Amino acid sequence: MKKKITIAVVINNRANYSRIKSFLIKAKKHKKFHLQLILAASSLVDKFGELESIIKKDGLSISKKLYTIIEGDKPVTMAKTTAIEISELANVFENSKPDYVFAIADRYETLSVAVAASYMNIPLLHLQGGEITGSIDESVRHAISKFANIHFPSTLKSKKNLIKMGENPKYIFNVGCPSIDLAKSATRRIKSLNEILKNYKFSAQNKINLKNIKDYVIVLQHSVTTEYQDTKKQITESIKAISKLKINSIWLWPNVDSGSDIISKELRKAREKNLLKKTIFIKNVSAEDFLILLNNSKCIIGNSSVGIRESSYLGVPSVNIGNRQLGRERAKNVKQVNHSEHSILSSIKSQIKIKKYKKSLIYGNGNSGSKILNIILKLKIINTQKKLYYA
Ligand code: UDP
Repeated sequence: MKKKITIAVVINNRANYSRIKSFLIKAKKHKKFHLQLILAASSLVDKFGELESIIKKDGLSISKKLYTIIEGDKPVTMAKTTAIEISELANVFENSKPDYVFAIADRYETLSVAVAASYMNIPLLHLQGGEITGSIDESVRHAISKFANIHFPSTLKSKKNLIKMGENPKYIFNVGCPSIDLAKSATRRIKSLNEILKNYKFSAQNKINLKNIKDYVIVLQHSVTTEYQDTKKQITESIKAISKLKINSIWLWPNVDSGSDIISKELRKAREKNLLKKTIFIKNVSAEDFLILLNNSKCIIGNSSVGIRESSYLGVPSVNIGNRQLGRERAKNVKQVNHSEHSILSSIKSQIKIKKYKKSLIYGNGNSGSKILNIILKLKIINTQKKLYYA
């Protein structure tokens, strides 16, 4: 019998998981695949969301857990975390000898995945190369593309960008974004927030009866690592805007990027000052529940890529703040604003009047997971030696 294809997939945070999940579920069921799921970085730190139990509930087994995050919330700790993860992954790959390693998107920890696999001559698959954004993610994403042997960009424009970067078109497959596969099933209408949030721990300043809440917005704002010094000012403007809203909001805590402690501190201070009376704070929910919440919301606010990708497919109005998503392809549902209370608030007010935007397919039509699987099945032996295509 032919040997199974072993793929090591490194999940560094919840966004990594929601991006790759549809492929993982398909690969797990396929007799030709053997998955090695490695959890690392913030995917193992509770304050950034409980991911392990969600993954297990999805029926996937975790092969390794790597505790690689250096606490400290500073640019220097991001650099050190990257170094630790390279070292840990090198040990894992040396022992498990996967046929392929999958690097997901553009987290700084994901650079470790690319470095470890490439030095060890393991063919590297990369999801979501060729996109353009702000923050350090922009540099990380393109650096990973230069290491990758097979590219799975999410849009046609990203594919073209990869070609311009000197990558071989033969190994670039525009498969769409696999998180749209999940968004496709997020169609359930909910009567109140209780239907979803009753299963999760959340906090709020005042007693909130979830059964009474049907209209709400979602807020998810991360720090922009390249504007670290402005983090406090930036989050303060958003807090002021949200505090003036008449409808409820669900606020998700930020990711691990440097500056996240500053954001969390300002959110706690705002709570103590009783500024966010109508806000429900939550660490994370499963990808499916999140997308149902998104689909039923009046608007998503902040700078998460979900306000650009999944929201475009679902037609949910989005207010994107600042430079974190600068340059990322977007549909008509996104209003771009700067970090100013006034512009944020007035954009939210105009967006929540709109019921839904027309569905956009810029990030695919929801079958990326199977496309990736079928492409990997057909891959011939890959020479990991790379070369600028145009040279
Ligand atoms: N997400 C999730 N659970 C949550 C919040 C978000 O699964 O509680 C998913 C969401 O659907 C999206 C991704 O995580 O696919 C976005 O996460 P984040 O804002 O951290 O990432 P980034 O902007 O860096 O992509």
